[in-house]
Amino acid sequence: MTALLDDPLDAAALLRAGALVALPTETVYGLGADARNGAAVAAIFEAKGRPHFNPLICHFPDAEAAFAEVRADGRARALAAAFWPGPLTLVLPRRADCRVDLLAGAGLDTLAVRVPDHPLALAVLRAVGTPVAAPSANRSGRVSPTTPAHVREELEGRIAAILDGGECAVGVESTVLDLSAGGAALLRPGGVPVEAIEAVIGPVGRPIPHGAGPAPTLRSPGLLLSHYAPTLPLRLDATDVGADEALLAYGTPLAGAALVAQLSEARDATEAARHLFGALRHLDAEGQRLSLRGIAAMPVPGEGLAPAIRDRLARAAAPKA
Ligand code: AMP
Ligand code: MG
Repeated sequence: MTALLDDPLDAAALLRAGALVALPTETVYGLGADARNGAAVAAIFEAKGRPHFNPLICHFPDAEAAFAEVRADGRARALAAAFWPGPLTLVLPRRADCRVDLLAGAGLDTLAVRVPDHPLALAVLRAVGTPVAAPSANRSGRVSPTTPAHVREELEGRIAAILDGGECAVGVESTVLDLSAGGAALLRPGGVPVEAIEAVIGPVGRPIPHGAGPAPTLRSPGLLLSHYAPTLPLRLDATDVGADEALLAYGTPLAGAALVAQLSEARDATEAARHLFGALRHLDAEGQRLSLRGIAAMPVPGEGLAPAIRDRLARAAAPKA
């Protein structure tokens, strides 16, 4: 029922007609819809089972197209010049004549915008000629997809098509940075390390650490504590592993696990990010088949993409609401 496409022009035609199409990006597969079309945007929330208060990121072929819909200050322009196309999402005030349907922004007066670094996504965006709203192409709360097969596992029969771009190169979602309120606040760590952002615009406010202070869910609903979650329970910072557990390894695997997936033998965080969601899916499916008790994850220390990995693992381990 869900077609696999290889021509971006076919994907663009479906999007213009109001259909949902999963698109490859450098981060994860996105579930795209014409962001001006309220019915198409509503269908994204429906297909994902996504709460309506969780706004979507809008995608554009270049910074000029993005900044026609939102107000960009000097910092936003400098960041766009440094990182677009790429895995950085900017939250900025909507322009009065912004064409994006209000539901896509969950009724907020801000909008999250990004230019993805993927030739097929850019070809689609250029051909569609309208903003494309695209959250990750998974059922709400579950692990994000990094291959067309993952998208099928999540959304087969619920969406018109998947544009086949193979495996995603970065593997974790974009960094989300809020510039709408004067300062700069990191809403979600992701594919662009925060140190790289600070090298361009100076200090960035960090999110409230897990468990501390009030739930930050109103600031950015993607900060929902339980998210990216496998079915099996996930145990963080494991220093040992049981014979009835699956192991998510980073470096030399702990001995004794029933099943092992390696994020990066060389402890390279960029490689680990690329493998993260596929490894979680594999351990979850195989672990359930083998009736294992859960997944034990080895620590992923350091900077670069490691904070984004730790963030996703912490949410995957959080108690489900
Ligand atoms: P996803 O589409 O699943 O990659 O998630 C998009 C992320 O961007 C979520 O964390 C959203 O809560 C966040 N987001 C999107 N739009 C806004 C906005 N206008 N203000 C704050 N956060 C946003
Ligand atoms: Mg998502």
